[in-house]
Amino acid sequence: MTRERDRLCPCPNCGKFYAFSESISVNFSGWRQWSDGWGCGRLYSRFTQLLGCNCGTLFWPSGMAFKVRNHNLSDIIEIDMERLEEKTPAPRSWWGSLFDSLAGSCIGSSKLDFLVHKRREYPLIFPAKISKLYDVLFYSKPNLDHKTELEIRQWLWWVWNHRNRDLIVKPSDIGPDVPDSEKEANLHRLAALLETADQPCWMMIGDAYRQLGEFNSAIDAYVRANETGTKEYLIGLAKRQCRECVEFNPTFKENGTA
Ligand SMILES: [Zn+2]
Repeated sequence: MTRERDRLCPCPNCGKFYAFSESISVNFSGWRQWSDGWGCGRLYSRFTQLLGCNCGTLFWPSGMAFKVRNHNLSDIIEIDMERLEEKTPAPRSWWGSLFDSLAGSCIGSSKLDFLVHKRREYPLIFPAKISKLYDVLFYSKPNLDHKTELEIRQWLWWVWNHRNRDLIVKPSDIGPDVPDSEKEANLHRLAALLETADQPCWMMIGDAYRQLGEFNSAIDAYVRANETGTKEYLIGLAKRQCRECVEFNPTFKENGTA
């Protein structure tokens, strides 16, 4: 089953403490995986660990932080402890109030359940919104480290690919729509960052080049990957000059075809 626990971490700049949830076990039932590395299941989907404090700080729970000009990078929920301590009205009322305050946000019902069953004295902080991370990268332009720039550019690639995935429920945060030239520039830079990572993910590098239409570079990268079976399938796509981000269907490994 998917289980979460709450952890506390301070904003490295202003010192304000936040509670955030992290997965301690994950249920992969109904998992769907795409060639760019993004995937989702019925009970779990990937999210960035980057957080944004309203003092204008982008940070990792592990402590690395960057001063940015952007605010509201993350949804932050301040729990009204006085209302929580009231014997009446029943919890339903503050649940309703909480739900109203979240209307239109990207926070899922599982997060709400998580909140309802935990009484907190610290504000709850959610992963930074990808549309806001785009603003950080292109307008605030902080001096990001390799890991953080890679994280943001990877998520931008993923959310821009969401439009072409066969998803029943489209994620609400799919980033700003930008010209293809800007998306390609992001993908070129991402490929370079992935190649210089401590442990390069050659499947993702190959897929970045394939989506860019640089098929020889894509094949060179796929060849270096360990994922036997899957990589042959993607090499086949590159040889046919297919640039689509594809979903791995449950049977393709058996018959080797899409
Ligand atoms: Zn702060």
